[in-house]
Amino acid sequence: MITRRALLGTSALPLLGCAPERKITGGFNGASPDRGHLLRQKPAATQDPEVRRCDVLIAGGGIAGLSAARVLRRAGVEDFALLELEDAAGGNSRAGRTGGLPCPLGAHYLPVPGEGAEEVRDLLEELGIARRAAGRWTYDERHLCHSPQDRLFINGQWQEGLLPMQVGASTLAQYTLFSRRVAQETKSARFPLPLRGGFAPSHRALDAVTFAAWLDREGLTDPHLRWYLDYCCRDDYGAGIAVVSAWAGVHYFASRHGFQAPGEEGERDAVLTWPEGNGWLANRLLQPLGERLHTGRVVLRITPLRQGVEVDAWDVAGNRMERWQAAQCIVALPLFVAERVMSTPPRALSEAVPQLRYSPWAVANVHIESPLQDRDGAPPAWDNVVYGGRGLGYVNAGHQNLNPLPEATVLTWYCALGDEPGGRARLLARPWESWRDEVLDALSVPHPDLRARTLRVDVARYGHAMATPTPGTRANEALAALRRPQTGLWRSTHFAHSDLSGYSVFEEAFTHGYRAGHAVLGALRVAGKRAS
Ligand SMILES: Cc1cc2nc3c(=O)[nH]c(=O)nc-3n(C[C@H](O)[C@H](O)[C@H](O)COP(=O)(O)OP(=O)(O)OC[C@H]3O[C@@H](n4cnc5c(N)ncnc54)[C@H](O)[C@@H]3O)c2cc1C
Repeated sequence: MITRRALLGTSALPLLGCAPERKITGGFNGASPDRGHLLRQKPAATQDPEVRRCDVLIAGGGIAGLSAARVLRRAGVEDFALLELEDAAGGNSRAGRTGGLPCPLGAHYLPVPGEGAEEVRDLLEELGIARRAAGRWTYDERHLCHSPQDRLFINGQWQEGLLPMQVGASTLAQYTLFSRRVAQETKSARFPLPLRGGFAPSHRALDAVTFAAWLDREGLTDPHLRWYLDYCCRDDYGAGIAVVSAWAGVHYFASRHGFQAPGEEGERDAVLTWPEGNGWLANRLLQPLGERLHTGRVVLRITPLRQGVEVDAWDVAGNRMERWQAAQCIVALPLFVAERVMSTPPRALSEAVPQLRYSPWAVANVHIESPLQDRDGAPPAWDNVVYGGRGLGYVNAGHQNLNPLPEATVLTWYCALGDEPGGRARLLARPWESWRDEVLDALSVPHPDLRARTLRVDVARYGHAMATPTPGTRANEALAALRRPQTGLWRSTHFAHSDLSGYSVFEEAFTHGYRAGHAVLGALRVAGKRAS
């Protein structure tokens, strides 16, 4: 019988060392920097804008905005509109296509929800992925990441898993020590995901220092351990251990299944993934919205009214201004954008934004015509990481494909730039060719025939991709105030964005949207606007 493992294995392919180089096409895709810049150079309206009215206006169509829209839709609220700057909703979780094949433009996986993530689990149940049987939640195998999940290219070969394994006794001892410290911290206070409730004294101590400083203090100095922890932080938070707080570093493990040193018993984190990444989820959230979703609308100004809000948005295709008036408004925009567009920003917003540090990211989708030559060791996995690389490795969009014949696929390469001074300016200034060469050079180390098999490279750039949890972010009172109902001028406005947690993952974005959606339902009920 042919096993899945054997089919994905590529080491039997002939060497292509002398193949002539082909022309590789591609360009930039993803979020448009020009649209974002309209916020600074506001386009002038040539005539009075048409005024449109609705009960609820949602500004921003990322996961948080789409989650809020789901709450309204399911509660029977019909009269709402969602305004999204790009031509497609989904934000950092948008799907793309390279060479005609689906691939992620940003987010690419969702861990199976833990105990505190009921809202996310409820979504997965609605989508037919999660099912409760005999008191246990099970997940549809087709959406769970197939094995092998990940591998690491180190010392000239691939190993299974991302924690370096060919290491000496002193490194193993440090793995065990770190594992114990995570377990101790988990015992002294909970690390819920998404964030909820209290902020324990032990959290405060971790939040006060960088992860690197905390590791130093704990005597955790082993280079292999530190590389791995730095990789995890760059992957989830956009910057490494020298930038993120120790609270964030510990939370990464403590909010899931801890850190397992080799030989320790423990459950592995199962993840859900799709060829188009979390775009699969975003598309399912946006499809039912129909004409209530207005893409290509740049929200330029939000002004409070005596009753409700007024929102001016630039209609990119129509080249004209629209004016919306709504009884309730959900601001599902990154907070630095919200602060720019709100006419008199709430004090907490003005205080929170300067304290946030946004990490830029680059994401390259590499279309290859057939499987790649591979180095020795562990077989191809969904997530493939090169030890010591500047990038975070690549995921294979074809990994869940059960077709037994070798075929074209897309490899999505990630690079977080939150550690690099001037990273944002360079991200935007570098020409596409320079990114193409960096990606191909990095991945040619484990795959020498990559250039010969590559047809196209598309690069998405995110100048302000995500808030990075630096020391003090968890304790940030201004963020906490924005998570609560607003009063005074802005009492009809509710914030919803992953920025409110100080770090960005699906669970946080989705739950903020859920909370804001329910706050609006409460307000509409009080105003007698809805029956259910
Ligand atoms: C490269 C990358 C990889 C990631 N990988 C993962 C992953 O694998 N798993 C995971 O859980 N998370 C991942 N994330 C985190 C991801 O950010 C969250 O999962 C989630 O998508 C954030 O949703 P959000 O709604 O909070 O924010 P956003 O995605 O920022 O949504 C905000 C929306 O507002 C719109 N907008 C902005 N300005 C305006 C305006 N003026 N008018 C109208 N609309 C506007 C934007 O276009 C966007 O659609 C990744 C992030 C990045 C950048």
